[in-house]
Amino acid sequence: MRQNLLILAGTPEALALARAAQGAGLSGVVSFAGRVERLPEHPLERRVGGFGGASGLAAYLGAAGITHVIDATHPFAAQMSANAAAACRATRTPLLALTRAPWQEAPGDRWTRVADVAGAVAALRRAPARVMLAVGRTRLVEFAANPQHFYLLRFVDPARAPQPFPDYEVVVDRGPFTEAADRALMQARGVGLVVSKNSGGAGAYAKIAAARALGLPVIMIDRPPRPARAEVHDAAAALDWAAHAGADLGV
Ligand code: NAP
Repeated sequence: MRQNLLILAGTPEALALARAAQGAGLSGVVSFAGRVERLPEHPLERRVGGFGGASGLAAYLGAAGITHVIDATHPFAAQMSANAAAACRATRTPLLALTRAPWQEAPGDRWTRVADVAGAVAALRRAPARVMLAVGRTRLVEFAANPQHFYLLRFVDPARAPQPFPDYEVVVDRGPFTEAADRALMQARGVGLVVSKNSGGAGAYAKIAAARALGLPVIMIDRPPRPARAEVHDAAAALDWAAHAGADLGV
């Protein structure tokens, strides 16, 4: 059997896996949702845009001759992960998740953990503050319920439309970020509170370390539930899985 991987991307881990797969002589396709204007370089074939739900993905797997799916999406991309699990189950395609561990509270941190974005919105029902809001562009509108705050936002691409707040600033920057630069940014904008998803990984951790150094409280949003599936934490383990998984399914 010749492996033909589908790598569900949108993370640095997916790119590292694509490079490792090419290095190992495997073929495959890296799939992006298409949310950002400039897609990162990687050595495998690429496709961009949604599949059309779980059934669309199932059809794609057959049409493209995919033998293995590796879900290397962001821990908050719950819909894509659910679709991948359903499509792989329906088509009997082996599925693996390449994940990163969540951040853990460390001495000096002042976290309030909330279960989801709605919990973060509720936690911001308070007196006006200067808030660094790191929840992803698509979730900002939910925070419009708290217009009393100043919001510092950081986007990969420039904002094409106004944001849903009376008082905000957009900084355009693509990580990875450093603690020193994030500390300087927070100090320059007078940030008093940080709201963040518990994304895990090194690239986005700078703001958490900076908040700790400045003694700032953080509202930390827990990860959404993901489907049960085999899981590894590094590219080498994922390739090892791809070399062996599926034999029992006859793929
Ligand atoms: P999501 O809510 O789980 O997915 C919504 C829909 O977008 C999916 O149903 C699928 O459309 C499409 N989609 C998502 N990821 C895709 C992929 N890798 N390839 C093709 N289609 C994809 O996802 P999201 O939270 O909007 O995130 C979108 C992408 O950005 C993900 O790839 C994720 O890895 C990346 N990302 C997300 C976050 C975050 O905080 N959520 C942060 C950094 C990067 P169809 O149903 O039509 O197939």
